[in-house]
Amino acid sequence: MPDNTQQFASDNYSGICPEAWAAMDRANRGHERAYGDDQWTQQAADHFRRLFETDCEVFFAFNGTAANSLALASLCQSFHSVICSETAHVETDECGAPEFFSNGSKLLTARTHEGKLTPESIREIALKRQDIHYPKPRVVTLTQATEVGTVYRPDELEAISATCKELGLHLHMDGARFTNACAFLGCSPAELTWKAGVDVLCFGGTKNGMAVGEAILFFNHELARDFDYRCKQAGQLASKMRFLSAPWVGLLEDGAWLRHGTHANHCAQLLASLVSDLSGVELMFPVEANGVFLQMPEAALEALRNKGWRFYTFIGSGGARFMCSWDTEEARVRALAADIRAIIEA
Ligand SMILES: *Cc1c(COP(=O)(O)O)cnc(C)c1O
Repeated sequence: MPDNTQQFASDNYSGICPEAWAAMDRANRGHERAYGDDQWTQQAADHFRRLFETDCEVFFAFNGTAANSLALASLCQSFHSVICSETAHVETDECGAPEFFSNGSKLLTARTHEGKLTPESIREIALKRQDIHYPKPRVVTLTQATEVGTVYRPDELEAISATCKELGLHLHMDGARFTNACAFLGCSPAELTWKAGVDVLCFGGTKNGMAVGEAILFFNHELARDFDYRCKQAGQLASKMRFLSAPWVGLLEDGAWLRHGTHANHCAQLLASLVSDLSGVELMFPVEANGVFLQMPEAALEALRNKGWRFYTFIGSGGARFMCSWDTEEARVRALAADIRAIIEA
């Protein structure tokens, strides 16, 4: 028997949500034009424009690494640099793809508090060197929700974008968990992006219930020039594009994207609340999105693994990450919390 019980290692352990699956099924009836020239791709792009209340340019890529890397490459030239948090996915988890696709634009990492960049940390890096020998800062990329499960507030985004404007920097948002940020804040997608000064958003579909796929939204049309060629050259133009775009129609047409984000966040809150009274277990970061980061003795983590639980510990000794998904069952959250309690109280 294959073991397919729910785990908390990553939100991409989950399957495909019913809304995305049904849309794929609808897109699978008969023939359609290829390479994005089809009705599903048109509909998905229109849904994005409606949701974001603006006439943005929309592109589709297979995954987040490609979406981020190609978006960043379109915002700078090879001699430019990109300011990001030291914990940013582009820095720690994309195997140098942003540098590769931009032909060498260097990532400059900033120290962060709770995973977030600040105007001060951006300013410090952007103004550190302004001579010909250093790659010229051109872009800031931030992650919403962050890699440690925190969420930038609209005023924090506005302060960052004001700093970017002042320093001549474009602003990119890695929104692999953008839905979780919207759900947490109760803000509209527009408020958290172009209204706050974001130029380009990579909107994650995979962790929100799709099989594959990320959308790239340009709020500044000029920056999107020839982006379709960039996607094609990078092997990101799907010939049967409708199977990348139709799931977005399923997610966006009746608000499933937000329901899934809300549910995942709720499960994370539940997990945090069920272990909050345990001494020996500390929350490492505020729980705002769908992740819970717990500091526990190494022996407790080992005992938890021995009980069959999977989780990541890449955040350093004693730190474990538990991610909730669109389909996480409350019973599994309670079972995990009960096992943590039993181990700690043993
Ligand atoms: C998951 C994730 C991505 C996308 O990763 P891929 O594996 O390339 O799809 C991008 N940014 C963040 C913060 C992520 O967590």
